Formats: sequence, structure tokens, C-alpha cells
Amino acid sequence: MVYDVAIVGAGINGSLLAYKLQEKGLKVAVFDKEVASGGSGAAGAFLSPKFSKSGELKELINTALDEAFSFYESRFGEHIRFFPLLHIAKNEKEAQALRLMKQNGEVPLLKNPPFIPKEEFVYTSKSAIVDAKAMCEALLGRAVFVQHVVKNIERKKALWHIDEVYKAHKIILATGAYKHLVHETYLEKAVRGIWGHRIDIKTSTTIPCSIHQYLSISPTQGGKSALGATHDVHFHPQAGTPYDYEAGRAELLQNASKTLVLENVEVLKDYVGLRSGSFDYLPFIGKLVDSERTFERFSKTELMRKPPRFETFSYYENLYVINGSAGYGFVLAPLLARLLSGSIVDGEEIPSLLQAARFFPRYVRRNF
Ligand SMILES: Cc1cc2nc3c(=O)[nH]c(=O)nc-3n(C[C@H](O)[C@H](O)[C@H](O)COP(=O)(O)OP(=O)(O)OC[C@H]3O[C@@H](n4cnc5c(N)ncnc54)[C@H](O)[C@@H]3O)c2cc1C
Repeated sequence: MVYDVAIVGAGINGSLLAYKLQEKGLKVAVFDKEVASGGSGAAGAFLSPKFSKSGELKELINTALDEAFSFYESRFGEHIRFFPLLHIAKNEKEAQALRLMKQNGEVPLLKNPPFIPKEEFVYTSKSAIVDAKAMCEALLGRAVFVQHVVKNIERKKALWHIDEVYKAHKIILATGAYKHLVHETYLEKAVRGIWGHRIDIKTSTTIPCSIHQYLSISPTQGGKSALGATHDVHFHPQAGTPYDYEAGRAELLQNASKTLVLENVEVLKDYVGLRSGSFDYLPFIGKLVDSERTFERFSKTELMRKPPRFETFSYYENLYVINGSAGYGFVLAPLLARLLSGSIVDGEEIPSLLQAARFFPRYVRRNF
């Protein structure tokens, strides 16, 4: 069996892309050891605006958020719940941003928050929580799920061969911050894993809405709430040292206690995983530059020229990536998967801001 597309990684990006490509009529297989076994399975999966002054990332996230609400609600309404959000500033810089956002009417404001914080705050209806694993499973729908960790991909006779067993015309790497299957230094330098821990707790305190300050706290349902997450750029699960769950739990409970008092807390479950962040904080999608072939055709000086001419580079044939969503994977996935599937199937252009190719000329400028 030769698939039209093989997707490596069944996190939110791989699953959403599988859904979009199937919708366009392609036969898709998705490979992973388990659905949502990476960062996506660990996520609290809050959908909320980016509360900051300005910038490309804020614009992207706030655009993606509207698309995410409408996509998830219209197709998979049973796996998304809308709750009001009380977002409280954790420092003066953020307080200024919140004041500005309120002045500019950037988010719909609700009256009567459950309590009035000392710090600047926004109380808004623009917020939801996705059931992370159930959403990924639902998205995979009719795609073939292959329970298999891919060790090697190789292009032979115009097809991608996966571990000498499976074949596909196109391959998409949606592997998050886990091991890269294509060894390109410019890519390895552009991405880093940010380890995160979240917990489900039981508490006798009633939390009526989502609360974000030093971490995200979900509303209580049946006496249960989710607290997340930690941000650790040093720990990596593939490095061999065990993770200290007790220290992670203590950090989460300590951070929650700076916002509200939680009574009679019992930790029910831990979730851990890696977020994949890029050095410019923006996600990346599209074809991957083949640096060896590109270096054969251009001098370093030509490659350093600004603005870079992405269309002249050499690329791996029929190989694509979707990655770098950092802490906003569930917000960004519908928009990223729409753009990437539109590019793969209909030849639509990906905005240069999001193209994976941007890391290559930047690497050349910094290293030669
Ligand atoms: C604790 C925590 C809390 C978070 N909270 C939120 C939140 O509230 N809101 C939000 O929007 N985002 C949140 N995020 C971020 C979000 O989870 C990520 O942005 C998202 O998971 C990225 O999805 P992905 O599909 O790119 O990567 P992943 O979910 O990491 O998926 C990559 C998948 O690829 C698989 N894989 C890798 N290599 C191979 C291979 N060789 N063969 C087969 N499979 C392979 C992995 O097993 C993994 O399942 C959080 C993340 C963490 C860790």
C-alpha cells in the first residue's frame, strides 16, 4: 500500500493536518507510538488571546484564535468547552499591556469577575478549553493510524520509504521537539524543547472560571481542576536523567497559591511533555531546505543577501514540516494546518513569516 501522505507525529499538528488533507481527498497514514503522546497529551489545552502590547506573534495568535474557536466548535463541539477567563497581570509590563488592550477594545469584557484581584486584570468571554487527547483522536477520524515509532525515512524511486516497510508519495514531519528525522543543523539550532508539567487536582475550593496568572487554573468540574504548566528549558526526556515529579508538583502548587487559596488539595494525575519553540517564537511550516544541495548552487555571500529568495533554494522533495507552536499548539493548529494543506494540495503560498525555509539563510548569516 502506498499512501498519498505519511504524517509522523499524532499530536495536535499531525492530527489536524491529517483531518485537513483527508478533507481534500488524500489517503493519509499517521505514525506515532500513541495518539497525543508528546506535548499535546500534556497540554491543559486552554484557548485564550495573547495578552501583550503588540508584535507578530500576538497578531498571529489572535487571528488563529478566532479560527480555532470556529473550527473546533463547528466540527468537534463535544471536545471544547467555553468558560470565562480571568487573566491577571503578573508584572507591571503585562499590566500596561492589559490596560492598552482594554482601552483599544481588543477583547470582549465581562462584568462581575468572581473576585477582584489586586493587580490589573481582564475578565473576558474569549476563552475555551479543549479535551486534548479526545480532540486529537477525533481529528484522526478515518486516517490510518500506524502505531509505530519511525526510525528512518529515505527517498527512493520517487517515493518516501519509512523504515523499509511503509511507502508514501509525501511525508510530513509533525514530530514536535522530539528527535529530528532529517539532520539539518540550521533546523536543529532553530528549535528547542521546553519541558512542561501540569497536574489534575481535587480541591474543595470552587473555581468558577479559568484563571491565568503565574500559571493556568481551570474551573472546577466535579471538584477537579487542572493546573499548568511549568517551563523548563534544561530538562529533556531523551537525555537519560529521570524527571523530578515532586519538584514539579511543588512548583505548580506554589504558583497557584500566589493567585488563590486552594483548600484540601489532592494531586490526582501528572502530565508531562515537550513544547517545541523556535528562536523567533513563531511556528514554522512548509518544505525543508536541503542545505547540501543549496550550498552547491550558491555562494555564502549570495545566501546571506536580504531579503532571502526562498524560491531559489533547493528543497527535499515532497517533504514538509509543521512545528514550533510552543505554548499555543491548540490555538495555532487549525490555521497552520489550513495553510500547509493549502500549499501541499492547491499550491497556495505560505506567508514568509511562517516558512520553515527562513531558518536557513539566518543560519548562514550567523555562522559564516
Ligand atoms: C504542560 C504543557 C501545557 C500546555 N498548555 C497548552 C495550552 O494550554 N494551550 C495550548 O494551545 N498549548 C499548550 N501547550 C503547547 C502544546 O501542547 C504544543 O504546542 C503542541 O502539543 C504542539 O503539538 P505538536 O503536534 O507540534 O507536537 P507534539 O504534541 O509534541 O507531537 C509530536 C508527536 O510526534 C511524535 N513523534 C516524534 N518523533 C516520532 C517518530 N520518530 N516516530 C513516530 N512519532 C514520533 C511524538 O510521540 C509526539 O506524539 C502545552 C504544552 C505542555 C507541554
